[in-house]
Amino acid sequence: MKILYPDMYVSSLKEIDIQFLKDIGIKAVIFDLDNTLLPWNSNNLQSDIIDWFYKLKEAEFKICILSNNKRNRVINSCDIFKVPGVYKAGKPRRKAFLKAMRLLGTLPQETAMIGDQVFTDIIGANRAGMYTILVKPISKREFIGTRIVNRKLEKFVLWRIKRKRVSIVKSRSPDRQM
Ligand SMILES: [Mg+2]
Repeated sequence: MKILYPDMYVSSLKEIDIQFLKDIGIKAVIFDLDNTLLPWNSNNLQSDIIDWFYKLKEAEFKICILSNNKRNRVINSCDIFKVPGVYKAGKPRRKAFLKAMRLLGTLPQETAMIGDQVFTDIIGANRAGMYTILVKPISKREFIGTRIVNRKLEKFVLWRIKRKRVSIVKSRSPDRQM
């Protein structure tokens, strides 16, 4: 069950302390695209996200986008954020995360995954041994399959976090599987 839980949960990217990421040895950040950096299938940039994103860049983190969305959508978004990316990634399969880390040239323990979905982003990255951050989706619009299936799992995980049945520790758990 531990595989379901993120290392950190935030309601917005700007809540993530960049210095804290450095302090725990993170050198690279992999972003989910839809509802994490941009609203689902939309290019409406949000100024607070952009501000935080550029701070992360200035702090010299390696960054890439890892998305299950189509080629054109991902390539356009990579142009907007000026970072490399992987499209049709096949998250939550481990292969997707390994591909992104190969692109960044980092090890799992140096890499954080930030995404809005437990099922694709968090489970996959936990299994790959990465630091995981779950962020609240930017918009309510999304792929219908996501809404029906995956969000139920999120509700359960968030309910458990809120009930404090699991504690979200802002540090690496020493028994994390590699
Ligand atoms: Mg997403």
